[in-house]
Amino acid sequence: SVLIEFDNVQKVYPNGTVGLKDINLKIHEGEFVAVVGLSGAGKSTLLRTINRMHDITGGDLKIDGASITGYKGKELRNLRRSVGMIFQDFNLVNRSSVRRNVLSGRVGYYSTWKSSLGLFSAEDKQRAVDALKRVNMLEKLYTRVDELSGGQQQRVAIARALMQEPKIMLADEPIASLDPLTTTAVMDDLLGLNQELGITVLANLHSVSLAMKYADRIIGLRGGQLVYDKPIAEVSADD
Ligand code: ADP
Ligand code: ADP
Repeated sequence: SVLIEFDNVQKVYPNGTVGLKDINLKIHEGEFVAVVGLSGAGKSTLLRTINRMHDITGGDLKIDGASITGYKGKELRNLRRSVGMIFQDFNLVNRSSVRRNVLSGRVGYYSTWKSSLGLFSAEDKQRAVDALKRVNMLEKLYTRVDELSGGQQQRVAIARALMQEPKIMLADEPIASLDPLTTTAVMDDLLGLNQELGITVLANLHSVSLAMKYADRIIGLRGGQLVYDKPIAEVSADD
């Protein structure tokens, strides 16, 4: 079934830069979609419209059939919980432990005073253990993030995103600052979430060969427009 629907989506930034233009796109539940294109093509903008980090300026964007463009308050919070995100530079708190970083994925679920004291429920502590197991990082539970390699940090970031129990995972250049070996570990983790948990994945990737290895479908952007969209079986080397 269709999970995410872009209906003639436009995004013009306040300074007049066109981020997205006339995007029509349907993404189905359970897909692993690679988004490719040169720097500045609009890949990051596309991802960030899905969790409303960026608001679109025209058209409509639906998730599960409901337009998200008017969401406020509780609806917006629920949307952001259902969409996990990881970034090129990980966005972890470097001086804190892996455990604290992962549990911070649940902070928004607690009253301010409880989360400021680090009072997490037994259930959430178990969630953190499960998430870290899934990315093979449980042995680093008490390690400080700044003692980890880049690839390990990205896997911790994936575990943190999993704490929201997301339906959708956005990966914005997840491996751009990693070496080839750790790239494989991170991409394998994303594939695991997709295949084992049924999470729909959208990953911005520079590498078409990685996209072909992991994704079900490749979409290409250029100048904010959708210029390519094919299931992996139809992608040819000449494209
Ligand atoms: P990509 O992820 O493919 O590198 P982006 O989505 O980051 O592309 O950027 C698309 C276009 O929008 C680029 O021209 C970029 O400079 C511009 N852009 C991105 N973010 C902003 C912003 N916050 N304000 C203005 N322009 C932006
Ligand atoms: P990337 O292409 O790796 O996503 P960028 O260097 O294009 O990263 O952008 C870094 C940050 O700056 C992003 O948050 C983006 O939204 C913002 N940004 C990008 N281009 C512009 C711009 N022209 N004006 C203002 N902000 C921008």
